[in-house]
Amino acid sequence: MKLYNTLTQKKEEFKPLKENQVKMYVCGPTVYDHAHLGHARSAITFDVLYRFLEFLGYKVTYVRNYTDIDDKIIKKAKEEGISYKEVAEKYIKSYEEDMKALNVKKPTYTPKVTDHIKDIIDFVKALIEKGYAYEVDGDVYFRVSKFKDYGKLSKRSLEDMLKGARVEINEKKENPLDFALWKKDKGFFPSPWGEGRPGWHIECSTLVRKYLGDTIDIHGGGLDLIFPHHENEIAQSEALTGKPFVLYWVHNGFVMVNKEKMSKSLKNFWTIKDALKEYEGNVLRYFLISVHYRTPIDFSKENLNQAKQAFKKIKNVYLDKAFEFLPLTKKEIKNNFEYIDYKKEFIEALKDDLNTPKALSVIFKVVDKLNEIISFGISKRKRNEYLTNIYEKYKKDLKLFLEILGFNLKELEKLPSHIEKEIRNFANLLGLEDKEDISMVLEEILNYRNRLRKEKKFEEADKIREKLENLGFVIKDFPGKTLYYFKG
Ligand SMILES: [Zn+2]
Repeated sequence: MKLYNTLTQKKEEFKPLKENQVKMYVCGPTVYDHAHLGHARSAITFDVLYRFLEFLGYKVTYVRNYTDIDDKIIKKAKEEGISYKEVAEKYIKSYEEDMKALNVKKPTYTPKVTDHIKDIIDFVKALIEKGYAYEVDGDVYFRVSKFKDYGKLSKRSLEDMLKGARVEINEKKENPLDFALWKKDKGFFPSPWGEGRPGWHIECSTLVRKYLGDTIDIHGGGLDLIFPHHENEIAQSEALTGKPFVLYWVHNGFVMVNKEKMSKSLKNFWTIKDALKEYEGNVLRYFLISVHYRTPIDFSKENLNQAKQAFKKIKNVYLDKAFEFLPLTKKEIKNNFEYIDYKKEFIEALKDDLNTPKALSVIFKVVDKLNEIISFGISKRKRNEYLTNIYEKYKKDLKLFLEILGFNLKELEKLPSHIEKEIRNFANLLGLEDKEDISMVLEEILNYRNRLRKEKKFEEADKIREKLENLGFVIKDFPGKTLYYFKG
């Protein structure tokens, strides 16, 4: 597999430190508010990478942290009159709900900063002992001038950083570029330097080392984290261990709104929860992976609606069972179909720096093939073993491709809640027993209809059929059984 490495600015062949094992770390959210689509993009990008690496046979250990102590969290706590812990708990819960709705697979570990204060203090202490950090009046800073490689990820020289960055003037620091490892703050955590709390960057260096070791294979995050956050992570970790910190730095692009980055500070964001009110999780995933992860993606309702339409084409063919209902014949049916195995093309697309738009285009090739076979079978009103075999292979491939890209197949098969409600009401009207499982309720309705037909009450039986068809079901009677599926 090839991955674009921000460190070398090249697409490189991916070779993990240990054969067949991948250690991956991604910077998680600061939990002071509901997550927006920018957060969703990062989560889904690395979810697809996680799933694909596992599909390729790697044993992946994936860590994504929660920043649960920080200025913004403390500010929010003051505004809401609750503790910073309560703020963090509330928004971790919210984030986990969002991840579930987007079918983002849980990482192997999701550590919280406040559970690792001792590890952070030990890390800072070791940096002071090595001369890479110094304490001034309860604050501890990293001594940037001592770390020779500073700027290697963001490709900036120290002079550029001094000129370009809005570096705050702080008389306590030896050098304006030095950054805080520990901040003096009364009432927080005891430390050798007095009560305080960790700076932001140190948590990731500490958690990487604790959960994954000195050198890891992949470190991910949004493009905006390259400087200063990831630059500082490298400085802290490599200063301490003397070993390379990360082999492949992978960064996802922004979600843009009218050519501006979607962000909390610009107030142009859609929370994941807002978006989920209008679009199902699969559609949001489709939208976010329809553009290559390093390219900016333009958010608009129009673009999301287009994604919804495109995804519907996949969904329709995935759910369609009309072909399976056709009578099977032993006779040859003259046709030109042959099975084309698209698996290699699909996998190669993802192996090429996770080219999800290309992978989706391969899915549409399979969708087209399936549609051709289905309409051919329907026009002939029959199918044979040869055609069925090809059909089943394509269906299996479609399922596999959707699974690798992390689509929620259960959600695909799930009936919309208003349809489910109507079915229950209808069963109730017919005097049938209510069952928890909606497919059992449907079975009951169909059995009831079949009893009516046996009793030659065709008019009543047809009314039931009509009702179900109006709700979006396809119903087909075969000797001894009735098959159905939801078409929408
Ligand atoms: Zn980080």
